[in-house]
Amino acid sequence: MRYHSTRGQAPVLDFEGAMLAGLARDGGLYLPQAVPQMTRDDIAALQGLPYEEAALRVMRPFTDLPETRLAEMIAAAYAGFGHAARAPLVQIAPDGWLLELFHGPTLAFKDFAMQLIGQLFQDVMRRRGERITIVGATSGDTGSAAIEAFRGLEGVECFILYPHGRVSEVQRRQMTTPSEGNVHALAVDGDFDDCQAAVKAMFNDHAFRDRVGLTAVNSINWARVLAQVVYYFTAAAALGAPGRAIGFTVPTGNFGDILAGDVARRMGLPIDRLVVATNRNDILHRTLTTGAHRKEGVVPTASPSMDIEVSSNFERALFMAYDGDASAIAQLMDELARDGGFTVSQGALQALRETFASGRASEEETAETIRRVFADTGEVLCPHTAVGVKVASEQPHRGPMVTLATAHPAKFPDAVEAATGLRPALPERMADLYLRSERVTEVANDVGALKSLILERLP
Ligand SMILES: *Cc1c(COP(=O)(O)O)cnc(C)c1O
Repeated sequence: MRYHSTRGQAPVLDFEGAMLAGLARDGGLYLPQAVPQMTRDDIAALQGLPYEEAALRVMRPFTDLPETRLAEMIAAAYAGFGHAARAPLVQIAPDGWLLELFHGPTLAFKDFAMQLIGQLFQDVMRRRGERITIVGATSGDTGSAAIEAFRGLEGVECFILYPHGRVSEVQRRQMTTPSEGNVHALAVDGDFDDCQAAVKAMFNDHAFRDRVGLTAVNSINWARVLAQVVYYFTAAAALGAPGRAIGFTVPTGNFGDILAGDVARRMGLPIDRLVVATNRNDILHRTLTTGAHRKEGVVPTASPSMDIEVSSNFERALFMAYDGDASAIAQLMDELARDGGFTVSQGALQALRETFASGRASEEETAETIRRVFADTGEVLCPHTAVGVKVASEQPHRGPMVTLATAHPAKFPDAVEAATGLRPALPERMADLYLRSERVTEVANDVGALKSLILERLP
């Protein structure tokens, strides 16, 4: 499979190349040149399969990997999950379902992709006898998932930037308590967009990039999007696809998870509604409503992993909405960097609206949803999931609607306790998290200082 950049100026790469590059050299994101198709029979055959087997069937055509090697890596990636189904469905209304994606080691859906990426990277580095440096920005969950996936791996040095004071205590502890010397938690004096901008700046410094062997594992990495396509298939097949169409509502920040849903649909999965759910940082909802993509400043909310305004993967959706017109995308991204926004063309806006519906939930609505779902069903939602459930409940949709439950409620205990009066407990296997000692470096929001620090820390 060949991958090309959304900005059209970077080399075309194979799966491994696109995975190792992360961000393309022209600042764009990699996408497959063609989307492999799953027939109705292929989809029907997924019903009742172990998650790992379904993952192999969905992902293999996108990769150039031998089947047995990919199967081994998938098995290793999901072996540490705390649920045999990996991504179980739970019913919360007559036609409403939660897809629980929080049974991995850091209790958020990011583990699905990150655990697999850890395996994939280790495999390449072993074969090539090389070293890489992973630098990632996180609003909380990506960083903990990355540190958990890469801790102790050979040939990999992992630096994670997070906004100081803006992640939950559980998220922070998951990043700062691993003791392996190859993982580094950096608390940046800024917000998530500052962290993400710093990472982008390092990638755009090609000399630095080549010197340290820089690699991204943020959701811009195609391999991450791909790993997330799988659970749309397993959930839809369990609920009767291809015999009936399924709706999905996705709590959205960087647009990676929802983009995976779009990829699943382009592969042939009958998804009849795909809903972007935002908190009050609603730039994506505003864009889909008005066509104007304009930054207004991020406000902290109870769902911090969605407190994002520069939603990286949206570029991939724009590329598809502009029919693969890379120069139009490069221009929009220049405008965004220069003027803080752009307006989507009429044709592209129509294409986006045919693909994605959208909605937003306020902080009050989010808390009320946590309270109501707990009272009605006994299920405890994390605030991100609650944003999704609230937005899903307002969709004009018939038939099954699945909301992605993106994190375990115990990752955000304060918000959940405020809404329900109950403090959700961490699963048994993590019960000592609050007792482990922390290791973190505070850094200024300054790309030069960050680069020096990384160079100093490399072995
Ligand atoms: C990362 C994250 C999101 C947003 O996912 P994107 O792929 O960035 O849109 C939502 N909820 C939780 C709990 C997350 O960790």
